Formats: sequence, C-alpha cells, structure tokens
Amino acid sequence: MSCKSCASENQTELGAEINIHFPGRKGLDKPALMIFPKLLVCLDCGFTQFPFPEAELRAVERDVAA
Ligand SMILES: [Zn+2]
Repeated sequence: MSCKSCASENQTELGAEINIHFPGRKGLDKPALMIFPKLLVCLDCGFTQFPFPEAELRAVERDVAA
C-alpha cells in the first residue's frame, strides 16, 4: 500500500500508545481512552494512519451520540 498523502512506498510500521481525550467541557469529566495501534508511517512526508480498535471505536461512537 502506498502513502495516501504522497504515494510513496517508503513506509514502516511502528507500535504506539495513543491517549485520546474527548472534546469540550464534558470531556473533562470523562477518563481518557488509551489505544495501542500499529502506526503506518510514511518516511517521506510523515503522513501516519492506523486502525482504530473496534471496541474503543464503539465507545467513541456511544460518546458522540450521547
Ligand atoms: Zn507520504
């Protein structure tokens, strides 16, 4: 798969921890959400993408709908 930003094939996978905060004032009362995705990083332009884990995605969906 080539980079979606610059079409480079020069990419690598890296492990990561991402601490997600919910926006706005109501987000101050919610615990942050930790996810541990594999990042696909373009070594030419820095564009990075990762799959959002399904269970955590559903949690964000519920939060947005509330
Ligand atoms: Zn790129």
